[in-house]
Amino acid sequence: MSTPADYYDLSRIRPEVLAALDKINEMGPAFAARAKGVDDDASFPTENYKDLADAGFLGLSIPTEFGGWGFSMGEYAMVGAEIAKYCGATALTFNMHNSSMAWSRFMYDMPNLTPEEKAEFAPLRARQFTRAMKERAIFSQPISEGGQNWTSKPNQTQARAVDGGWKINGFKKFASLAGYCDYYTIVCTEVFEGMEPRHEDTKLFVVHKDAPGLMVKGDWDPLGMRGTNSRDLILKDVFVTKDDLLMPRGIFGKTLPNWPHMMATLSPTYMGVAQGAYDFTVAYLQGKIPGQPPIDRRMYATKRVAVSKMYARLANMRALWTQAFSECKGFPSKGEVMRMYAAQYNVMEGVQEITAMAIRTCGGQSMLRSLPLERMYRDSRCGALMLPYTSEIMEDYIGVLALYEMDELDHAPGDEGGARNSLWRGDSGQLRMLR
Ligand SMILES: Cc1cc2nc3c(=O)[nH]c(=O)nc-3n(C[C@H](O)[C@H](O)[C@H](O)COP(=O)(O)OP(=O)(O)OC[C@H]3O[C@@H](n4cnc5c(N)ncnc54)[C@H](O)[C@@H]3O)c2cc1C
Repeated sequence: MSTPADYYDLSRIRPEVLAALDKINEMGPAFAARAKGVDDDASFPTENYKDLADAGFLGLSIPTEFGGWGFSMGEYAMVGAEIAKYCGATALTFNMHNSSMAWSRFMYDMPNLTPEEKAEFAPLRARQFTRAMKERAIFSQPISEGGQNWTSKPNQTQARAVDGGWKINGFKKFASLAGYCDYYTIVCTEVFEGMEPRHEDTKLFVVHKDAPGLMVKGDWDPLGMRGTNSRDLILKDVFVTKDDLLMPRGIFGKTLPNWPHMMATLSPTYMGVAQGAYDFTVAYLQGKIPGQPPIDRRMYATKRVAVSKMYARLANMRALWTQAFSECKGFPSKGEVMRMYAAQYNVMEGVQEITAMAIRTCGGQSMLRSLPLERMYRDSRCGALMLPYTSEIMEDYIGVLALYEMDELDHAPGDEGGARNSLWRGDSGQLRMLR
């Protein structure tokens, strides 16, 4: 199995981050051993979460003044990719918890928030950080709503003011950790009588798993990432108060468009899955897979060439992806945004190539279900379709940013039906970008 020294310059990594990576590699074999059962049953890696919580990982992105580790987004990405070498579903769901914390961490620090907005936000995020630290609470982040082109409209899940708070009604598709988290971070639109729902009225609430009116529904029998348990969530008159508010009105629309790397945080999982498939291939050809006959297959030139192609592709993915995550920030430059889009695209497409090459290279016996490669192959298929940064959307965004000037973007063809809602449009810092 590879270690961070195989793909990072360790001298550039803070000692506490190196320690976290080492800890994942220490716990990883147990994650890998549990991965088959979780995948077979399409259940959830509950024991892995206990290990992660025991080791403090739930506070990875939480600022140090709240007892967390205060890792940067790039440091989180390294940890996520390390987890995914062993279990993709654990890494993908951990991203949801981590993102819930990271949004509050980084959006709060955005320079375009007014002192009043920060003052309103401060106690809300403090409450949730404390929950994660003191209660060891796990948060999910169900935003997706399914349906046609859902990213182009204000969230259809709606909050209406009632006595003492709000009532939330709506539906969330693919709510990873459904039934296994403690709190759901619900992105919704506050609606007002006689007014069309608006992006600028987006709010984030935290809903406890046992809240009356919240239901986890539907079957979960997917092709890949089966251990994420991403079932449907129905919210029917779920009552919330100001104590459950995580992000007040206005903050989301003002910050997210100017922190576009925030939506690229699914790629660490797929970077790690690709690394895991490569590592497996090397060990398999060396005859070093535990429980398998020690057959040395290295003497075939065809296998060596195939491995060199895999390595060349993987190193290429890792280099761009590492650079893109080292550039995460609010108000990035156009070059940084384009590199991030390209990194997302390369990882989500590349992971499918690497896992397919791994199966072709290792050969017939390697795709038996007793071995992890076929699970990695299925898991790898899920990355490219994750909205809002799907591979097709990345192709469109890179193309328009490459070919149009910033002041031409709003009129560039192909934006029918608000298809470019999540496109970075420069540093205006305003809701124009969330049309
Ligand atoms: C295993 C798994 C776990 C997930 N976990 C979560 C989670 O925890 N939280 C969460 O919020 N979501 C989650 N998702 C959902 C995911 O991010 C996507 O929203 C979902 O996969 C999209 O499926 P769909 O059928 O709704 O998309 P569709 O709308 O059918 O999209 C299909 C394709 O159409 C194109 N398309 C769609 N909308 C647009 C648009 N606006 N502009 C241009 N092109 C567009 C895209 O290229 C896309 O690939 C998860 C998905 C999977 C598979």
